Amino acid sequence: MVKLKTEEEIAILKENAILVSKTLAEVGKKVAPGVTTMELDRLAETFIRDHGAVPGFLGYGGFPYTLCLSVNDVVVHGFPSDYRLEEGDIVSVDCGTIFKGYYGDSAYTFPVGQVSEETSSLLRVTKESLERGIEKAVAGNRIGDVGNAIQSYIESFGYSAVREMVGHGIGRNMHESPEVPNYGHAGQGKKLLAGMTICIEPMINLGVRNIYLNDNGWAIHTADGKYSAHFEKTVAILKDRTEVLTDYDYIEGKKSYN
Ligand code: MG
Ligand code: MG
Repeated sequence: MVKLKTEEEIAILKENAILVSKTLAEVGKKVAPGVTTMELDRLAETFIRDHGAVPGFLGYGGFPYTLCLSVNDVVVHGFPSDYRLEEGDIVSVDCGTIFKGYYGDSAYTFPVGQVSEETSSLLRVTKESLERGIEKAVAGNRIGDVGNAIQSYIESFGYSAVREMVGHGIGRNMHESPEVPNYGHAGQGKKLLAGMTICIEPMINLGVRNIYLNDNGWAIHTADGKYSAHFEKTVAILKDRTEVLTDYDYIEGKKSYN
């Protein structure tokens, strides 16, 4: 069942979304060759708690960390570890919060030092595909319009969209109805209604779309070992417009914060 949100609920979801955005910005500042992904996890947890919130992923379904840190061929749900990031790597940082009883959820994939042309193109196109999906996430459209916009864009570059994992509604629960796939047919699927708050999160592979589950039971890898990128924003669908609740401007240094 889809839970439509009131203005007050959307305001709280926005507080969460902004805190997640700032946390991603803090993490992004530290991403560099030689840094371990566990260091990134620790600083995110401290930052979230210092702002009076609780890490949303920690303990969720048994997930043992604050961040999902997914390096290179890991699509999503990677564990922080003592792995030291290397020049040319990419790291998807997926972060959640709980504040005032609601969730925040957003992700950004950072290049580590200088990355190849092929890699930077994957990051750019995946982020652009998220914007194309958001453009279609308006009241009266359907879920398939969003997925189709993402899929058709990334496939025009020869990339593939992961199908087993999808975006989702968000509210008092991190994962609510509806599911928001990164593929689909325009005009099909559930209708988007004012009051829906959803996370749109393209997970885009450089090579084949196939994946496999790591022995740790969490991390999802690309079947061919090629890189995968992941960007996620939370949006609120309003009657006459769609408001993006997360804010990449913090991450990209276009807006300051404390
Ligand atoms: Mg997420
Ligand atoms: Mg999500």
